[in-house]
Amino acid sequence: MLKRRALLAGLDPGVLPERQPREKCGVFAVYNYRGPGNAALITYLGLLALQHRGQESAGMAFKDNSGIKQYRAMGLVDHVFPRDWLLETGAETVLGHVRYSTTGPSLAANAQPLVARSVDRTGIALAHNGNLTNTRRLHNTLLRNGHIFHTTSDTEILLSYLFRFKKQGLEKAVKKTMSVVQGAYAAVALDDHNMVAFRDPNGFRPLVIGKLNDSFIFASESAALDTVGASFLREVEPGEIVSAGPEGLRSIYAGLEVNPSLCVFEYVYFSRPDSVLGGKSIYEVRRRVGSLLAGRIDHEVDMVIPSPDSGVTAAIGLAEGLNLPVEWAVHRNPYLGRTFIEPTQDERELAVRLKFNPIRQLVEGKKVAVVDDSLVRGTTARILVALLKKAGAREVHLCIASPPYKHPCYYGIDIPLAGDLADLSAGPAGLAEAIGADSITFAELDDLYKAVGDKQAGLCSACFSGIYPKLGKNSGKVS
Ligand code: SF4
Repeated sequence: MLKRRALLAGLDPGVLPERQPREKCGVFAVYNYRGPGNAALITYLGLLALQHRGQESAGMAFKDNSGIKQYRAMGLVDHVFPRDWLLETGAETVLGHVRYSTTGPSLAANAQPLVARSVDRTGIALAHNGNLTNTRRLHNTLLRNGHIFHTTSDTEILLSYLFRFKKQGLEKAVKKTMSVVQGAYAAVALDDHNMVAFRDPNGFRPLVIGKLNDSFIFASESAALDTVGASFLREVEPGEIVSAGPEGLRSIYAGLEVNPSLCVFEYVYFSRPDSVLGGKSIYEVRRRVGSLLAGRIDHEVDMVIPSPDSGVTAAIGLAEGLNLPVEWAVHRNPYLGRTFIEPTQDERELAVRLKFNPIRQLVEGKKVAVVDDSLVRGTTARILVALLKKAGAREVHLCIASPPYKHPCYYGIDIPLAGDLADLSAGPAGLAEAIGADSITFAELDDLYKAVGDKQAGLCSACFSGIYPKLGKNSGKVS
């Protein structure tokens, strides 16, 4: 079944049993910075702004007189980079990355940027957000050609092809590599001369271009540009290759069939609310989904409560739609990570209890609507409902600002397989009962499309709908 679904989605079915690493990551790169501070410090700030996109490891690559160097380690950005190192690194061009691997091992060797070097000390560094889908075939070809893998990350495949084609220059190497790889990649590569940003022909993952003084910035989200004081220029388009060099920016296209399929999950959950994506404010999209959700609720409630912090923006929209107050009736301990990325069920449950505490004086005897951006396993919702009821809430109605997840993602977001998702086989009423809530209401896909601006054609929503976007065509030939 999975194999058939993979074939329908245009995927290499061989990728499925391997459970390839599925990453959701952040990329931040600075080209030719000569202002106050240095490029490593700017990159550090940019990576801090993108920390929500990956918390397992962080790294930077840069070039100096002796070639391309890298500094990477497991951990959060502010733990990985020592202050002295940041101050002493005089590079003007730096490529940074934060990583979150989901099914692949969490190894220091997989921390990015990855770097490949020749004996003549020339090299290429690569930072990648996304997930390739024809990895098995490419992996086997590289093995046959004598490549020895140093990581278990699909990013190494991307880098190996760039390195193989590098004699033609980085821009051409990127173009040629894009004709071979398939899947999701928003990536930035660096060699001894240029920095090149490129995005797959579906544009699954975001990548923006900014300017800071006379230097160029590439970042996964526009909020990171704001953090470092850079101005937003534009997004890298699906299938586009943008080179930053001594002459400025240069754009070419890979010549592949483009089928824009930006991940709708970026709007629902993943991107920061202060980012702008596809010309739309993430905050405004989430708020609009909340207000559209108001039309789907048929229970009377006294107040709207956000599930902190993921449901805040949609809760504001829902409260506007229902003409009710938003009450911050659940306190969140801000010193713990997001439960979605905790590794095991027991740890997730403990994390939720450590994280949330309802304010009894607000909820006692009240009928409350609790809003979250999404429902994955239902763990957070179940414990939150139990905590609110224990605190005296008369009724708890769950309002989810996205449709139920039903299908796996192959393009760089870890969504658990069907058996681990909230069970909808008994319908919303059955699910509400299992969670302990009095009702559960989901936003529909149409609400998301309307909130984004009816750009259904340009969005991937496969994990909700099961309809996988046609992958941008390439030769698929491995030379
Ligand atoms: S399947 Fe879902 S998570 Fe994956 S790219 Fe599509 S919308 Fe995003």
